[in-house]
Amino acid sequence: MSQHFETKAIRINSSKSNQKEHSSPIYLTSSFTFDSAEEARATFADEIEGNIYSRYANPNTSELIEKICAAEGTEDGIATASGMAAMFASIASLLQQGDHILASRSLFGSTHQLLTRIFPKWGISSTYGDISDYENWDRLIQPNTKMLFLETPSNPGLEIIDLEWAGKFAESHNLILVVDNCFATPYLQQPAKWGAHLVAHSATKFIDGQGRVLGGLILGKKELIKEVQFFTRHTGPAISPFNSWILSKSMETLAVRMDRHCSSALKIAEHFQSHPEIEQVRYPFLKSHPQYHLAIKQMSQGGGILTLQLKGGLTRVQRFIDQLEMISITANLGDSRTIITHPASTTHSKLSEEERLRVGITDGLVRVSVGLEHPEDILSDIEKALERSKK
Ligand SMILES: *Cc1c(COP(=O)(O)O)cnc(C)c1O
Repeated sequence: MSQHFETKAIRINSSKSNQKEHSSPIYLTSSFTFDSAEEARATFADEIEGNIYSRYANPNTSELIEKICAAEGTEDGIATASGMAAMFASIASLLQQGDHILASRSLFGSTHQLLTRIFPKWGISSTYGDISDYENWDRLIQPNTKMLFLETPSNPGLEIIDLEWAGKFAESHNLILVVDNCFATPYLQQPAKWGAHLVAHSATKFIDGQGRVLGGLILGKKELIKEVQFFTRHTGPAISPFNSWILSKSMETLAVRMDRHCSSALKIAEHFQSHPEIEQVRYPFLKSHPQYHLAIKQMSQGGGILTLQLKGGLTRVQRFIDQLEMISITANLGDSRTIITHPASTTHSKLSEEERLRVGITDGLVRVSVGLEHPEDILSDIEKALERSKK
């Protein structure tokens, strides 16, 4: 019988060194040695397996990749220094001048910059589609469309894209489907199951889970990963072995952490649903979420992020944020500490107002990354700040 998620996340380990350590050591080394000139030759020629250089592979990084592959149900993967390095490499390695990307409109801020400001410099163009009209996506396809790039749930609007639809759409148009699975983590959602060719992550968020290190991942079938790997090995966005070690350790607790993030987030979302100071709460597993039925179909729980639409304008929201006593004001998410972010003035401030409004980022919207503190303490901090920030 195949083992469960938690067991694999804990028990997949790099092989023991001759010290017989119980916990994987950190292989903080840039290169690896060979016993002979012949072994060096054969390793470089791919005739035998072996580590060469940490830009190519490292035991800590290999352990992390093996764990995430077991979690996502993918064959192989690559770890990168940050989530954005993963997003960039998954596109840049597979597309070339003249190609076109079709993407969901609600994307992480820097991914939006990649598509609109960076890739056009090399002649790779993109078009956004809205999830409210899937019927029209056929018309967004161009003869040179090669890739479908999606993020679900989206940051920060928590839009849910139908992954089953996406898998079929990509297949019928012969597109490479890339899904940014950062918000859900492989514990809640496995896009490869629905036909995603590449699953990309910012491991900086819930996978680390404690706000310590940056990291990114690209996962998929062996042959496709090989193409991406050629690009990453020679362009150099390699992750530090130390960060891989941290992230592999974090995988051991991902399931228990996500269970708590999700149960607390749901509790808080339900609590503020009928609050006089809140106009709207959005959380994938609330029945009021516009894509609730999709969320429960493709995610096992609702995730650790919710958004609150406060009554009153920008100054009210700022007063509210300033009145919080415990919750941190920072742009990260997926931390053990609860975080509040005002996307319109921070993470998404580079978007025009029109671009922001099209993806639901109003001045009154705050994103809450629900941490692992006791849910009643999180609730009470928000409650008190709402009360104190009333005129
Ligand atoms: C944070 C984030 C990224 C970028 O990851 P970094 O590790 O910060 O480079 C990409 N996509 C989503 C959805 C994110 O939340």
